[in-house]
Amino acid sequence: ATPTALVAGTGAAAKAGILIRDIGTLEKAESIKVVAFDKTGTLTLGHPEVVEVIATDDDTANLLRKAAAIETRSEHPLARALMTRAASEAGEPLTATGVSATRGKGMSGTVAGASIAVGNARMMTELGIAQDRIDALKARFAKTGTLSFVAVDGELTGGVLFADRPRPEAAIALRALAEEDVRTVMLTGDNEEAARAIAADIGLTDFRASLLPEDKTEALRGLTEDPKSIAFVGDGLNDAPALAAAGLGIAMSSGTDVAREAAAITLMRPDLRLVPASLDIARRTRRTIM
Ligand code: ADP
Ligand code: MG
Repeated sequence: ATPTALVAGTGAAAKAGILIRDIGTLEKAESIKVVAFDKTGTLTLGHPEVVEVIATDDDTANLLRKAAAIETRSEHPLARALMTRAASEAGEPLTATGVSATRGKGMSGTVAGASIAVGNARMMTELGIAQDRIDALKARFAKTGTLSFVAVDGELTGGVLFADRPRPEAAIALRALAEEDVRTVMLTGDNEEAARAIAADIGLTDFRASLLPEDKTEALRGLTEDPKSIAFVGDGLNDAPALAAAGLGIAMSSGTDVAREAAAITLMRPDLRLVPASLDIARRTRRTIM
């Protein structure tokens, strides 16, 4: 496309709510054949709620109080969900010291002299908790979904199950991409079961679960021979490496600053239909002779 056409295309995109970083972006968007999506906050609303709490050697209110003390230091949507539930069920949170986050796994710190960890199965494994214990606790939950465990002094003491809803337009957006022969895939740090449930809900057949932030970039490379042909759509701090590594990075405006800075396109409205719309504008721009 000519520079004039690219300027016009960028303007048309802006009108639709698609913020394009520079004039070369539309040319990048022309060659996209695969679109990979982050799950939490991108394909889903990113407002998880606690749906089930199990405490093995304590009551659930105490478990939530300890977990919430750690999560006050986290920006993760799961942390907010846990704190909301703890506030309504367990009252004032306890204070934690020495809190640290492990990206893609969870949080840990000290509460009332005990070391508390809140995170996924991988985090529990790293604490030395046996796989059969993790599996046994997981099996006690009535539903499947995003699951974070709570360990006290290296012992598994319970878990919290979360549910998040897909964005209402997700299925339509994916179908629009399929109609343009664009392959779609979901990349998530969440567990296999949670990923499968969301994927089934929105009609997505291809997904990779339990990915660490750096694994998302690696997974992108595995999806296609030509790195320029792949777009990644994400919102989180965790997604920044993949947004920068993809042929085209697309950030949700509702996401973190870090994600927006790493992306060539920002969707100004949290509407996934703007993903096929971006590719469509790029294709039309190419055909424009000005
Ligand atoms: P996603 O790709 O879905 O945004 P993350 O990579 O952020 O997921 O986290 C992967 C998993 O690690 C979560 O599904 C959750 O079980 C656990 N986890 C990460 N951060 C936290 C936290 N602050 N509190 C509880 N669990 C967490
Ligand atoms: Mg996300």
